[in-house]
Amino acid sequence: MIDFLLDLIYPPRCIFCEDIIPIEEERAICKNCKNIISFVKGKVCQKCGKLLEDDMSKDVCIDCIKNTQYYDKGLALFVYEGLVRDMIYRFKYGGHKEYAKYLGEFLSEKIRKERLEEKIDLIIPIPIHSNRRKKRGYNQCEELAKVISKKLNIPMNASVLIRKKETKPQSGLSFTQRKNNMKDAFELKNTFDIYHKNILLIDDIYTTGATINSCSKLLKKKNANEVYFLTLSIGRDFD
Ligand SMILES: [Zn+2]
Ligand SMILES: [Zn+2]
Repeated sequence: MIDFLLDLIYPPRCIFCEDIIPIEEERAICKNCKNIISFVKGKVCQKCGKLLEDDMSKDVCIDCIKNTQYYDKGLALFVYEGLVRDMIYRFKYGGHKEYAKYLGEFLSEKIRKERLEEKIDLIIPIPIHSNRRKKRGYNQCEELAKVISKKLNIPMNASVLIRKKETKPQSGLSFTQRKNNMKDAFELKNTFDIYHKNILLIDDIYTTGATINSCSKLLKKKNANEVYFLTLSIGRDFD
């Protein structure tokens, strides 16, 4: 009843186009956006989960052929473009923390579909630096991880992996610059919590994978078992 009244006063809006969604419809995403948003589906890189061009015979993208990827396998929900890019911007910088509720559900669904839930012992969100967290008020990846953890009943630990270096934003940096930027950026508070565990890292954007790879390398070095990642969005192999 309270929800119903709140919906009348503050009608639910689509997280992508911000238009009001009629009460009888699905929350979070309007009919129109559902048709135009690019979900990652079809042929994807078997390592990082990036969309591959349909007519290509390869199973792995160029980045994953060229570079050592320390994680075992990755998945992504949306292609990072247009409305998705704008939505993630509002989620991170526009104070729209509540998007996590809906996005976390989409991500949980993806994990179920890919049958990943039985493999995972622990969920770890990619951390942001404490200064950035103070400024923003929350870590968007942690908000997503909280929802997934609750939905799938898998433990989450948001304090074992920390960002000790205040890194520059990765956008606009070359591949080598990104890698250097991430060098020694992360630290593990203790190694017992991750020992021999299968870990799922949660992030918002995957481009070259420098962040995910840096964390995966550290986790593997400290005896985590398998490392997977799930990210809200990812680029295409052929962009
Ligand atoms: Zn919409
Ligand atoms: Zn790949």
